[in-house]
Amino acid sequence: MSEQKNAVIIGAGVGGLATANFLAKNGYSVEIYEKNANPGGRCGQMIQDGHRFDLGATILLMPSLYKKVLSELGIDLEKDLETSSLEPVYKLFFSDGSDFAFTRDSERMKAQLEAIEPGSYQKYQAYTKEGYRFFNLSMNDLLGKNFDHLFQFVNLKSMRLLLKLKTYLYHTDYIKQFFSDPQLRMAFTFQNIYVGQNPYQAPAFFSMLPGAEIAEGALFPKGGMHRIVETLLALADKQSVKIHYKKPIEKILVNGKKTYGIMLDDGTIVHADLVVANADLPYVYDQLLPGKRKARQLNRKKYSCSAIVFHWGVDKVYSQLDHHSVFLNDPYQKGLETIFNDKSLPENPSFYIHAPVRSDLSAAPENQDSLSVIVPVAHLDPKNNQDWGKLKQIAREGVIRRLEEAGLYDIEEHIKFEICYLPKTWETSCNVTRGSVFGSLSHSIFQMGYFRPHNQHKKYRNLYFAGGSTHPGNGVPLVLLGAKLTSERILKDAKNLNFN
Ligand SMILES: Cc1cc2nc3c(=O)[nH]c(=O)nc-3n(C[C@H](O)[C@H](O)[C@H](O)COP(=O)(O)OP(=O)(O)OC[C@H]3O[C@@H](n4cnc5c(N)ncnc54)[C@H](O)[C@@H]3O)c2cc1C
Repeated sequence: MSEQKNAVIIGAGVGGLATANFLAKNGYSVEIYEKNANPGGRCGQMIQDGHRFDLGATILLMPSLYKKVLSELGIDLEKDLETSSLEPVYKLFFSDGSDFAFTRDSERMKAQLEAIEPGSYQKYQAYTKEGYRFFNLSMNDLLGKNFDHLFQFVNLKSMRLLLKLKTYLYHTDYIKQFFSDPQLRMAFTFQNIYVGQNPYQAPAFFSMLPGAEIAEGALFPKGGMHRIVETLLALADKQSVKIHYKKPIEKILVNGKKTYGIMLDDGTIVHADLVVANADLPYVYDQLLPGKRKARQLNRKKYSCSAIVFHWGVDKVYSQLDHHSVFLNDPYQKGLETIFNDKSLPENPSFYIHAPVRSDLSAAPENQDSLSVIVPVAHLDPKNNQDWGKLKQIAREGVIRRLEEAGLYDIEEHIKFEICYLPKTWETSCNVTRGSVFGSLSHSIFQMGYFRPHNQHKKYRNLYFAGGSTHPGNGVPLVLLGAKLTSERILKDAKNLNFN
């Protein structure tokens, strides 16, 4: 590159930080403008009274994707982030009082499965093997590459791929080919909720999630998921990336077919050769760009569900909980319908608890616990009469009641403090559209691959996107992969075009 180009990035989430590092490594001068006082967005962290909480992301799944991206930046996932592999991956709790270890230990898995449904171990092997094949196929041909034009996606090869991935079958129908037991069916399909989906309405190829969990496991970085943000920050610092905190961007400035920079909320103008928006894509079209046609189009798309999160500092450690514990409560299917169709929350919600002290004593003061309870709930929807005060109460009471049933009789007395994130908190703290934290755009088949918003603006060609609502999708591993794809596109464009 003859003259150093400068890139401005809006947002210091995982997507923004990873893109900054790729661009800096390739000779760009990079500045990040972040509205909050701290980095990380939905992968942020909070410490109170010695209790450490990952605010959003807590599970490190698909380590092969992390390695693929981070190794290109010179980061060694296992060594630099001091990861350990969790065993079991998590513990599931069912309404009838039984539990199930989602384990990678084949003997233990076999014993559990055969006790519930004789003959099911062989079915489990077939299901998870096929799921992992879906994972590899989709990473190679659907999620792991940039699409430049429609015919790269709509062609015979892709049609065959979509058939191979069983996109024509719902996940919950597909699972019936493997298990008869309703709890086993739940145990191997609930993972759709990681990407804010209802397994009863999501395609079968999402069996790649349990498939990848069994094949690759779940890692835990010492210090929590925020270590990914800290590692990317340290590298950004080494590469002289400047990060400006408490600097909300108000506008992306455009002229003709180009952006020439950004305007901060105090009116300051920052010129740039290119801009990357890491802030949630539908929000960017709606709030930061001129012309509302695309924003209206995006508004009509499907959005993921949201989450009510309780972070509890607890003065006791409960041995019943594992590092990751998932409570799947009856009536399970109806509960999902209440979230996804009625845009509300069931009386007996299913939920997940992160209890990192079991792998990392530094997460809480001695003999105490830091618990993060994540309750999937509808996203913000002004058309439905959502009373968030009441929904928060339903969520809290439901969680406490279920924990008491699971033997944590005195949990309520031992909560020293509580910090609660509602969908509105996610919307205002990170500008995530509708508080749809697992997207925001959902991962329905017509919102994936070529059909997911592209990582380059159609008109303003030096405006790019990196983050959960752009290709390939949401979740830390996909956001990292997306940052790599966006950076590759930028570097390719720089070779082919002259934006200056
Ligand atoms: C409760 C919860 C649980 C989750 N669990 C997991 C999990 O276990 N595993 C997993 O892999 N993923 C999980 N996720 C998803 C994961 O956290 C996200 O996919 C990922 O962090 C998104 O990164 P991002 O860079 O796309 O966006 P964000 O993290 O949203 O980053 C965007 C950044 O842009 C900033 N910004 C927005 N607007 C402006 C503006 N106008 N000016 C300046 N800055 C702006 C925001 O403040 C933010 O810092 C979870 C998320 C939540 C909320």
